[in-house]
Amino acid sequence: MNIHVLPPVVYNKIAAGEVVDRPYSVVKELVENAIDAGATQINVEIEQGGKRRIRVTDNGGGIAKDELALAYSPHATSKLQTADDLFAIRTLGFRGEAIASVAAVSRMQIVSRTQEGEAYSLACEGGVLGDVQPAAGAAGTVVTVDDLFFNVPARLKFLKSDAQEEADIGSVMARFLLSRPDIAFEYSADGKKKYRSFGDGLSAALVAVYGAEALANCTQIRAEKHGIRLHGFLGNRNYYKANRTYQSLFVNGRYVVNQTVGAALTNAYASYLMKRQYPFYVLFLDVPPEIVDVNVHPNKADVRFADNQVIYGCVYSIVSAVLDGNSRALEYLVSSPQTAQIPVRDTLSKQPPRFEAPSAQQEPAQAPAQTPVMSYAQAKEQIAFDVTIPKGQEPHFLDDPVRMEVRQPAPRPAPAEDVFAQNQRLLREQAARARQERIDPAFLEYKGELFQTYLIYQAGDCAYFIDQHAAHERVLFDRLQAAMDARKVASQPMLVPFVLTLNAQEFAFLEKNFPVLRELGFEIEEFGDSSVRVLAVPADLMGMDLNAFFGEVLSSMESLRAIRLVDLLRDRLATAACKAAVKGGERLSEEEVRALIERMDGDVGMKCPHGRPAVVRMKKSEFEKLFKRIV
Ligand code: ADP
Ligand code: MG
Repeated sequence: MNIHVLPPVVYNKIAAGEVVDRPYSVVKELVENAIDAGATQINVEIEQGGKRRIRVTDNGGGIAKDELALAYSPHATSKLQTADDLFAIRTLGFRGEAIASVAAVSRMQIVSRTQEGEAYSLACEGGVLGDVQPAAGAAGTVVTVDDLFFNVPARLKFLKSDAQEEADIGSVMARFLLSRPDIAFEYSADGKKKYRSFGDGLSAALVAVYGAEALANCTQIRAEKHGIRLHGFLGNRNYYKANRTYQSLFVNGRYVVNQTVGAALTNAYASYLMKRQYPFYVLFLDVPPEIVDVNVHPNKADVRFADNQVIYGCVYSIVSAVLDGNSRALEYLVSSPQTAQIPVRDTLSKQPPRFEAPSAQQEPAQAPAQTPVMSYAQAKEQIAFDVTIPKGQEPHFLDDPVRMEVRQPAPRPAPAEDVFAQNQRLLREQAARARQERIDPAFLEYKGELFQTYLIYQAGDCAYFIDQHAAHERVLFDRLQAAMDARKVASQPMLVPFVLTLNAQEFAFLEKNFPVLRELGFEIEEFGDSSVRVLAVPADLMGMDLNAFFGEVLSSMESLRAIRLVDLLRDRLATAACKAAVKGGERLSEEEVRALIERMDGDVGMKCPHGRPAVVRMKKSEFEKLFKRIV
C-alpha cells in the first residue's frame, strides 16, 4: 500500500464538506468573519439561492496586503495564538478553516483595505490561488463566492432548489439581525431587498425581520433569576403561528434549538394555544459560561446545560408569569402591547426610527400638533414610570438608544409613592384596560340559541356567538385556578381512601412533597411500610384518576423536565373543567344561560383552557356583505 499525505487541494475539498455543506453555511461563515472584524455595517447579496453568487461586504478592520494569502490557508487565523486562548474565545470563528474550505470549492475573491492601507484583491479558483493585485475599495472587506461547488458535482447535486436555499439563507440572516441588533445589516436576494436593519436596537430589528405587527403583538421582558438572564420578546396569548419557524432562542448570543428551553416555553403557553398553534418568541438566555456546554457539535445548533431542571424552571416560571399576567410579571415586563414602542417606519426606507408614545396612559386628546422630542434618558424615565420596576433591580428598559417622540412628557411619579403602591396602581390600570376590552354584559341582548350549542347575543352593531361548552369550561377553569393560586382549595373526603404502594425512593420523594400536596387540597399521609394514603382530594378534582395523577408525579421525580406539581395540576384542572362543563348539544335553561353570561363578565375575547375561542363576533357589516347589501 502507498500511504501518502493528501495534497492540500484535495484535503480542503474534503474538509469543505464539514464546514460548508450549503450556501447558507457559507453566508454564516462570511458574516461571522465580518462581525469578528468589528464591522458595524454588513451587506449580504446573493443570487440564485447563493449557488451563483454570495457577496458579503463589511466595514470592519480589513486584511493587510501581506496577510491576504494567509487568510486562504487552512488553519490560518488571527483569532487564536496559543492553546490557552481556546478557553477564552470571544470571536465567532477560531478554527481558521472557513475561508480555505470555501475557496477550495468555489471561485472566491477577497478585496480588502485596512484603515491605513490601500485596497488589494486576491482571487482563488477551486483552491488555486491567484496573485495579490491592487484594487479599489473602501476600508473593510468584500468577499465574493461565485459558483459554489462548481468543481464538486456530487455536492452540487445535493443542493436544494434556489427558493429553498434562499429561504434558508433568509433564516440565517434573520438570526443575525436579531442576535446583533447593534449592527446594521442589509440583505438582498437576486437584487431584491429582503432585510434592512440600522443597528438601532432589538425592537427595531424585530420589526425589520417580522414587521411592525409582530412587535405590536409582543411583550418585551427582561428577567434575572439565580444568575440567569432571560430577555427578549414573547408573542402574546392570542398571537400564534402555524409552525415553529417563528421561535428564536439565543443562548449566550448563539442561536440554538434546545429541548429544555423549548419544552418550558411550550408548557408555559399550553393553556392558551391549541394543538398546531405555535407561540412566537425571540428570546435571549444568558447563563454563566460554566453551566453551559456549547460544543455539542460545531454544526449542531444546540447546547447542553449542567442542570436542565434549573433552566426549565427558570424559563417556565418567568414566561408563565408574564402570560398569566400575575403580579410577579411586573418584575419582568419591559413593555407590553399597550406600552409597546412601535417604530412606524417602512423597514426598507432609510427614515430615522420614530416611535409611538410609549404608553396608552397618555391622553391622546392632548396630543399637541408639534410633538416634543424626548431625550433617551427622559424616555427611559417615562418607561420606568409606565412599567414600575422593583427597587434595586437593573432598569428594565428598552435597550434602544434611539430618539423617541412622545405626545406629552409624563408627570414624574410622586416621590411619596413607593414601589408597592406603584405596583398596585399599575395592576389597577391593567385591570381597567382589560375591562375596556370587555363589553358590559348589560348591553348583551340574548337572541336565542343555535344547534343547542351556540348562544346568540347582540350588542350594538355586533352579533356574538358563544360556544356554551368552551365558555363554561373557561369559567370553571379560571375559578379552579384562582382557588389553587390562593391556596384556598376545598378538600373533599373520599369514601374509600386511596392507597399507593411505593418503593423507598418514591416514598421519600412524595413525603418531601406532602406539604405542597396538602396546600393543594390533598389530605395525604404515611400508611404503613412505604405506602401513602390519600383521604381527601381537591373538591374540584373529585373523581380524578389518582393512579394516573400519582403516576405522573412520580415519573417527573427523576425526569430532568420535572414540572412543578401546580403545573401538573393545572393540566388536571383543564381536564376536570372540561368534564364538568356543560356540553354542546345540551339545552340550557334560561337561568343557566343567564348565569353563564354573568360569570363570563363580558369577556368576549375568551378562549377555552385548550385555546379554542369561546366567542365569535360578527359585525353587522359582515352580514350585510354576505347578503350583498354592501360590497
Ligand atoms: P477564522 O474565522 O476561524 O479565523 P476563517 O477561515 O474564517 O477562519 O478566516 C481566516 C482569517 O481571515 C481570519 O482569522 C481573519 O484574520 C481573516 N478574515 C476573514 N474574513 C475577514 C473579514 N471580513 N475582515 C477581516 N479579516 C477577515
Ligand atoms: Mg471564520
